[in-house]
Amino acid sequence: IFAFIASFVYLLGFFGIDFVHSLILRQSTDLWNSEDEEENEALLRKEDARKIPCGQALDCSVTSAPIISAQKVVDEKPVKLTTEEDEEIIKAIVAGTTPSYSLESKLGDCKRAASIRREALGRITGKSLLGLPLDGFDYESILGQCCEMPIGYVQIPVGIAGPLLLNGKEYSVPMATTEGCLVASTNRGCKAIHLSGGASSVLLKDGMTRAPVIRFGTAKRAVDLKFYLEDPENFETLAVVFNRSSRFARLQGIKCVIAGKNLYLRFTCSTGDAMGMNMISKGVQNVLDFLQTDFPDMDVIGISGNLCSDKKPAAVNWIEGRGKSVVCEAIIKGDVVRKVLKTSVESLVELNMLKNLTGSAMAGALGGFNAHASNIVSAVYIATGQDPAQNIESSHCITMMEAVNEGNDLHISVTMPSIEVGTVGGGTQLASQSACLNLLGVKGASQESPGANSRRLATVVAGAVLAGELSLMSALAAGQLVKSHMKYNRSSKDVSKTSS
Ligand code: ADP
Repeated sequence: IFAFIASFVYLLGFFGIDFVHSLILRQSTDLWNSEDEEENEALLRKEDARKIPCGQALDCSVTSAPIISAQKVVDEKPVKLTTEEDEEIIKAIVAGTTPSYSLESKLGDCKRAASIRREALGRITGKSLLGLPLDGFDYESILGQCCEMPIGYVQIPVGIAGPLLLNGKEYSVPMATTEGCLVASTNRGCKAIHLSGGASSVLLKDGMTRAPVIRFGTAKRAVDLKFYLEDPENFETLAVVFNRSSRFARLQGIKCVIAGKNLYLRFTCSTGDAMGMNMISKGVQNVLDFLQTDFPDMDVIGISGNLCSDKKPAAVNWIEGRGKSVVCEAIIKGDVVRKVLKTSVESLVELNMLKNLTGSAMAGALGGFNAHASNIVSAVYIATGQDPAQNIESSHCITMMEAVNEGNDLHISVTMPSIEVGTVGGGTQLASQSACLNLLGVKGASQESPGANSRRLATVVAGAVLAGELSLMSALAAGQLVKSHMKYNRSSKDVSKTSS
């Protein structure tokens, strides 16, 4: 009897429980075939299993690791199988007979194009795209403007710093970042500014630049054109030609620089609410075409000759400015320095002199006379759809600190000569970025005065930088930096598990 009962229990364990388990636990998903389920899961985890060399014409019949969409794993929802028609397209892309870039125009459905491209990429590389979401993004909105050959989108959290009291108005500043502490620190700076009566920000200059390089047969001919362009009598005509490019582009000046028989023309113009690179390029092209009549021997080597200077560290932007030049200042009360910033006016002034001025001079800095302007600039740029690559010159900043009111209070200022921002064009029209611009009250084109929104955005960027400088410098002066970073910027998770 004992042996019989024991055998029954054993059999139940072997078949019965397994059967019951499979009935209860099997999900009604059409993604996996039951016999393939375990195998597929195992394959999925083999992230580095590159089965097929990338970029070659490939035979799709070779099985590769299945690519599962983020939704299946993250949301635990079933994912639709690709249709037969999609499957054919995927195979054609993997085989190299259909170019991936043509999907949008061929299918007329950007989301479907992204999904097919992603599936094909997974098969070609054998890499998992798990975690990179596909759903929840409007792929039509980036077509022909913001990004080619999309396969998904990267999520960056947006934090809020503020209210920033600037020129008598309160702003909640959106910051897209994955650096812990940054938003909290900027927020603390905003608080100190608010409690001290606010900051004020002034726009000194507003002009985007573009500098083509032109070669002549002799230096003499290059100088001829330089003198022609610098003659005030010719400016009117050139401005009319230039301004035809857009209702908003208005030529301000042309600075000519000679290098042997090569001539660099640094055009400067206002661009309304656009950051303006496209606009100015069109205007410059108009002028170059016009000049060919009187200077047929000029050879335009490139519409950008790097004297512009776009997305590269260069003294010309630091000295002459590019985009919006802004100065922003505040007087922080001694009490606030002590209670909110946990330091003293004296320590801040000394640290600023030795770090931001002397230390940066010793480092041979170019526009880097600040503690971390680029942190704030980048985070605000990403949140509001600016070109993050322009962070390079947009972060040029000198931070000054001085004890005022008999040494009781702190005067702090940031001077930023090349903040390149726009509220129309580029990434500003995308839904999330547009929402952040809306939060600041600078979304789209200004109805009252073209350019007012982008100029206001530039002053907000400078104001947020002021807050960031104030807070980080205080943390450094008080020796809090490492402590707060341990709290907010260090994951308590086991990183080795994440990487596996
Ligand atoms: P960018 O020059 O910054 O690359 P684009 O030229 O791509 O930007 O986008 C600017 C577009 O927006 C132009 O077509 C311009 O005519 C239009 N636009 C509408 N309103 C404004 C405005 N207030 N300021 C500037 N451009 C505007």
